[in-house]
Amino acid sequence: MQHSISVRDLTLNFGAVSVLKTLNLDVAEGEFVVLLGPSGCGKSTLLNCLAGLLDITDGQIWIKGRNVTWAEPSERGIGMVFQSYALYPQMTVRGNLSFGLKNARMPKDEIDRRVARAAEILQIGPLLDRKPAALSGGQRQRVAIGRALVRDVDVFLFDEPLSNLDAKLRSELRVEIKRLHARLGNTMVYVTHDQIEALTLADRIAVMRGGIIQQLDAPQTIYNKPANLFVAGFIGSPS
Ligand code: ADP
Ligand code: MG
Repeated sequence: MQHSISVRDLTLNFGAVSVLKTLNLDVAEGEFVVLLGPSGCGKSTLLNCLAGLLDITDGQIWIKGRNVTWAEPSERGIGMVFQSYALYPQMTVRGNLSFGLKNARMPKDEIDRRVARAAEILQIGPLLDRKPAALSGGQRQRVAIGRALVRDVDVFLFDEPLSNLDAKLRSELRVEIKRLHARLGNTMVYVTHDQIEALTLADRIAVMRGGIIQQLDAPQTIYNKPANLFVAGFIGSPS
């Protein structure tokens, strides 16, 4: 089977500092892979490379069999959800959901159809005419996910989407994201430093440290057979 994402010998330097070190990663079609590791280990940098938000130093990135190493973000068939929501404050929820589609000159009835579908899936229908300031953190994050959803992309990238939320909302949205994945069946790469999130969401977890993937395995294997002391200590100790 063709991989959804293939990262080949990816190196990224910020000046003299090497942040990603000849990193390799294959993600299967429809797979949910979590990038887990302590702050500063390069998780966001890797995700931003996949999204095309950073120019890489060396290596290749393939998405759905296409070499996208130098492709624009909008040409990669990916949707990204950030921790900070990044919603437009002056626009309604409907405006936020449809903005990118309008820019791409999609016909209005197709935009309406996609917005209605995303609103139904994420249960934000009653919020469509509100502005972000009138939403809770959890609702804002649903809208942020909706913005990726309306683009109808094959690959979702999440960068710590739940870390601004309180514990109760976090576990609620965790369930929601799992359900979303089951329903859409698309490929997801999800960054977190939260072990519980990784263990509950992932098909496979990539444990990172210092720009290197230390172990890439199913949650059970990571938990029961850690490859080294770092993995054992990191997954074993609650954050
Ligand atoms: P994580 O998401 O795992 O917390 P990051 O990918 O954000 O880690 O950062 C990895 C390393 O790269 C850190 O040491 C960070 O300080 C460094 N870094 C991130 N962005 C930049 C940048 N724009 N310029 C220089 N160094 C950076
Ligand atoms: Mg980060």
